[in-house]
Amino acid sequence: MPFDIEHALQILEQEVRNYQVPVVDLIAVQSHDPFKVLVATILSARTRDEVTAQAAARLFAKAPTPQALAALDEKSLQQLIYPVGFYKNKARYLAALPAELEKEFGSQVPSEIEQLIALPGVGRKTANLVRAQGFGQPAICVDTHVHRIMNIWGYVQTANPLQTEMALREKLPEQYWIRVNSLLVAFGQGTCRPVGPHCESCVLTPLCPRIGVTPRKLKLTRPEKQSGIKRMISWNVNGLRAVAKNGFTDIVAELAPDILALQEIKASPEQLPDSVRELAGFTGYFHPAHKKGYSGVAIYSRVPADKVYHGIGDPRFDEEGRVLTLEFGDFYFVNCYFPNSRHDLSRLDLKQEFNHALQGFVEGLARTKSVVVCGDFNVAHTERDLANPEANMKNAGFTPEERQWMDAYIEGGWVDTFRHYNQEPGHYSWWSYRSNARERNIGWRIDYFFVDHASRKRIVGADILADIQGSDHCPIALDFK
Ligand code: SF4
Repeated sequence: MPFDIEHALQILEQEVRNYQVPVVDLIAVQSHDPFKVLVATILSARTRDEVTAQAAARLFAKAPTPQALAALDEKSLQQLIYPVGFYKNKARYLAALPAELEKEFGSQVPSEIEQLIALPGVGRKTANLVRAQGFGQPAICVDTHVHRIMNIWGYVQTANPLQTEMALREKLPEQYWIRVNSLLVAFGQGTCRPVGPHCESCVLTPLCPRIGVTPRKLKLTRPEKQSGIKRMISWNVNGLRAVAKNGFTDIVAELAPDILALQEIKASPEQLPDSVRELAGFTGYFHPAHKKGYSGVAIYSRVPADKVYHGIGDPRFDEEGRVLTLEFGDFYFVNCYFPNSRHDLSRLDLKQEFNHALQGFVEGLARTKSVVVCGDFNVAHTERDLANPEANMKNAGFTPEERQWMDAYIEGGWVDTFRHYNQEPGHYSWWSYRSNARERNIGWRIDYFFVDHASRKRIVGADILADIQGSDHCPIALDFK
C-alpha cells in the first residue's frame, strides 16, 4: 500500500507542536529577515540548535545587516561564532558574504536557488531553506532527516539528499514543500532519531513500514531497579494445576512480574494448591468459568487493586470466565481469554460478538484513564503472525472476519506493543503440540499486550518469552511506566 504522505504530515503537524522548534525556523519567524535566515542556516550546519542559537544571537548583536557584517574581520567572526562546527570555515564564508551580496545582488539576499548557491558557503540545502524560510517561496530543503525519514516511509527510494529533493519535487504536493523540512527535522530530532528511533511511542507506527529500521531490542528492565516501571506478564497456561506441577512458582520468580495475567486456568481457586492460590508476594484475583475445568482467567498483583471487575456484563461470556479487570490509581489492567471460533467455525459469530463487546468495554474504560489489555486473543493479526498463512486463510484464528476485527481495533487506536519493537515475522506465542511444531517454530502470535493510544508513551518494553516452557503458549511481557 503506498505511504499516505498527506495523512502522515497532518499527524506530524499536531505531534511536533510540543517539540522544540528548529533554530532556523525560529529565527525566520522572529526576524522575517532573509539575511538572518541565511546566516543562521550557514551557522547551523553540523551544529546543535542550542549552540547555533547562542552563536547567532552574539553575531546578530554586532552584525544585524550585510553592511554591519562587512565591518567584522574573519578573526572577530571566529570569536563570535565559536563553538559552532567548522567555525573557521564558516567565519571565512561570512567574511566574504557582504562583498558578494553587494557585487551581485545590491546587498540583498537573492531568493532563487541558483543565485543563492553562488554565495560563499551556501549549498543546495541551505539555499532551499533560505528560499523556503526566508522568503516563503516553494522549496524543499532536504537534510539528513528528510532524506532518511522519506526513505524509511518508502515514499522515495533514493541514495542521497539530492536525489530525494528531486524525487520530492516530482511527487510531494507543493503545499507541503515549505513545511516538510521543519516537520521532519523536529520529528527526526525528537522521535524518529537516526540511531534507535522511538517507534514504541511514535504516532506514525500504524502507517510506517519502517524500511531499513533496525528494531530497538529493548531489554526488559528489572522493574524494582527502575522506579515507576511495572513489569506485566500475560500467559495462557492451558491449565494452572498442570503448570503448577511443572515449576510455575520458579518461573514466576524468574520473570519477576508486578502483575501476572493468566488465561485458561481451567480451575477454581479452591482447586489450586495453596502455594499457587496464595502466591507469595502477590494478591490473587480469580474469575473461573462456571463449567469445571474450562477456560477462566486470573491475575496476581504485587500491589492490591483498588477495584476488581469480573466480566464485561454479558452472561454468555462472563459465565465462561473470559475477562477480569483490576483498577489501579492511574490505569486499568484487563486480562482476556477470547473465545476460539473452533475448527468448524461454529463459534465464529459468538467470537465476533465477544470481540465487539470487549472492545466497547475497554473503550469505555479508556475514557477515564490508561488501559492495558492483555491475553490470548485467539487470532493472528497479519501474515507475519503465523508460520503458514496461506494454509490457514480460512481457519479459526486467521479468518478474514477475525483479522478484520483486529484491523479495526488497531485502527481505533489500540497499540500492539510487541509490534512497536519488532516488525519481523517468526515471533510466535503459541505452537501446536503436534509435529514438533515448537521445535520447528511453526507457530502463531495470538497473545498480545495492547495499550490505548493516549498511553503509548507509557510503554517501555515489550517482548515474547519464547524460551519459557510449561504450556503450549509462552508468556509475553510488557514494561509499562
Ligand atoms: S515508526 Fe519508527 S521508523 Fe517509523 S516514523 Fe515512527 S519512529 Fe520513525
